[in-house]
Amino acid sequence: MAKTLPDELRGAGFRGEIVAEAALGPMTTWRIGGPAEVLATATDIDDLTGAVRWAEARGVPWRVLGNGSNLLVHDAGVRGLVLRLPKVRSVARTEGTTMVAEAGAGFPRLARAAADLGLAGIEFGAGIPGSVGGAIVMNAGWHQFEIGNVVSRVTYLEGDGSIVEYDRDACRFGYRTSAFRGRRGVVLGAELALAPDDPAAVRERLARFAESRKANQPTELPSCGSVFLKPEGDFAGRLIEAAGLKGRRIGGIQVSEKHANFFVNLGGGTAADAIALVELVEQSVFEKFGVKLTREFEIW
Ligand code: FAD
Repeated sequence: MAKTLPDELRGAGFRGEIVAEAALGPMTTWRIGGPAEVLATATDIDDLTGAVRWAEARGVPWRVLGNGSNLLVHDAGVRGLVLRLPKVRSVARTEGTTMVAEAGAGFPRLARAAADLGLAGIEFGAGIPGSVGGAIVMNAGWHQFEIGNVVSRVTYLEGDGSIVEYDRDACRFGYRTSAFRGRRGVVLGAELALAPDDPAAVRERLARFAESRKANQPTELPSCGSVFLKPEGDFAGRLIEAAGLKGRRIGGIQVSEKHANFFVNLGGGTAADAIALVELVEQSVFEKFGVKLTREFEIW
């Protein structure tokens, strides 16, 4: 009998957990999506590297899942291999004001660890429910802050299996983008150059930013965060609201009553619902204001 993909991956030396037809919805903050043909959780960087090299050599399509907080997975799910890194998550101060973090660490955890050490520059990250890897790929940010502003180095596993160090310039950070977005490879970790400050002051800002989010965003309901990027000179939420779409619902997905650039899953929402609502909003905003909204989230 032919070997299954999980058997082959195990045979290639993968040590972490392997699950066939694993539901991805619960691994995304939108709580939407079908299964991954194979979901593999790497135990460490060697495990991850081995899996990528195996998939490349075997011609199996592969992707990396962070915390699934900027992702819409199709209802039919995805074929091939989905790799997860929740165990690749160490966070440490190296020297002075420098911290290093592995890609699977939660961005909020890194932000809190930095605050406790009196290191400033990523307090905004406490409210961004992504992984460090996802935050680097997306250049996660809030108001004038962006993770790219404090990244000094990124360790990256290229699609060919080689590991390369990128300095800040090579990362080409831009508004919610970087050299790593849309590319076949894995952010393994990053070094951050932070600024010294009083731990109490950093913690106070972190708490204040988190409060401001709670007050303005529907954090109590599943979503992917902002659906659209900020258009030049305006706000997507303002345009959606002005188009009369606040509260508009398709199936289980609704344009949030609290913040119109968040589309919340009221329960049982599907990827088809979400896509239909996104398209409806795009079309209405374009017809009313001539503005083409750009999606921030990724679709698998
Ligand atoms: P995922 O959603 O898992 O993945 C996103 C993309 O990155 C995918 O293509 C994936 O393959 C890729 N990826 C993930 N990890 C890696 C890796 N290690 N190597 C290579 N590719 C990788 N974003 C902001 O910028 N600012 C905000 O203020 C903000 N607020 C949010 C609030 C809420 C309530 C929610 C739900 C989301 C919010 N987001 C915000 C969006 C999201 O949290 C960020 O974009 C985050 O950086 C995504 O990280 P992730 O680990 O969840 O990535």
